[in-house]
Amino acid sequence: MTAAVAGLVLSLGMIAPSAMAVDPGAYDIDSASSLQVVVNKHRPLNPATYVPGQLVRVQGERLRAEAADAYKQLAKAAKAAGVNIMPISGYRSYSQQASLYDSYVRQYGQATADAIAARPGYSEHQTGLAMDIGNASGTCALQACFATTPAGKWAADHAAEHGFIIRYPAGAEATTGYTYEPWHLRYVGGRDIADAVTSEGTLEAFFDLEAAPDYLP
Ligand SMILES: [Zn+2]
Repeated sequence: MTAAVAGLVLSLGMIAPSAMAVDPGAYDIDSASSLQVVVNKHRPLNPATYVPGQLVRVQGERLRAEAADAYKQLAKAAKAAGVNIMPISGYRSYSQQASLYDSYVRQYGQATADAIAARPGYSEHQTGLAMDIGNASGTCALQACFATTPAGKWAADHAAEHGFIIRYPAGAEATTGYTYEPWHLRYVGGRDIADAVTSEGTLEAFFDLEAAPDYLP
């Protein structure tokens, strides 16, 4: 190694990870296949019937390969800390999402259905980058009280270390269009961007996008 290279390595090594700038403009948020794609009530997947190329099975659920690897690391780290995290729902196709959304509309009416589930073509689950998690015990599955359980607390504190964000945080309904979902993890490509998005609160805030509380007419 030359002295110049050694000097460069030394100076790069002195930049703390937290000080590493994450530039929102450097990411592709429009392509359905991008790890940073932003899907919300104003931003459907393009095409609406998008299917990810490489889906990998994780304990009965499916995720894109990159997200599956990160999820396995997350679950392993949780387990090492004594917390058993279980996957509840990963990839859902356009038609699976349509069935789910339609069943909620029939049960609760459209307004409530829109607050708790995406319309087909507008779901993060269709990207293969989202996983709903639960406790092995099933306690508070898909309920706000999940946040107070061991898996919920662990995920809130450590998901970003594995490249995931809590996509629908508490108090962000006017931005995301969804009520608090402490169980819905979204892979965003790595720890640096996950930390940066988490400190901004939402993908919409991080990428300086308009709030998307409702579908456009
Ligand atoms: Zn979800």
